[in-house]
Amino acid sequence: MTQIDPTKVATTITALKRKPVVSSACIGCGACVAISGDVFEINEDGYSIVKDLPDYEGKDVDDSISACPVNAIRWTK
Ligand code: SF4
Repeated sequence: MTQIDPTKVATTITALKRKPVVSSACIGCGACVAISGDVFEINEDGYSIVKDLPDYEGKDVDDSISACPVNAIRWTK
């Protein structure tokens, strides 16, 4: 029988609960929205905000982080 490694389970659960955040450095270029429109949207002030989702994995957030010209996006827990 395969043993489940509790450390790996905890790491996986933590990864699933992380959420992207956008800092005040955002200049509203829209790159993150173009890449991951199901996660990011431009608010009425013209800056990116993160939509409230149950989970953000598999939604190209890392690509948006890489594309942001001012490094305004990061993962948080
Ligand atoms: S890519 Fe960066 S600067 Fe552009 S809208 Fe998104 S968070 Fe703002």
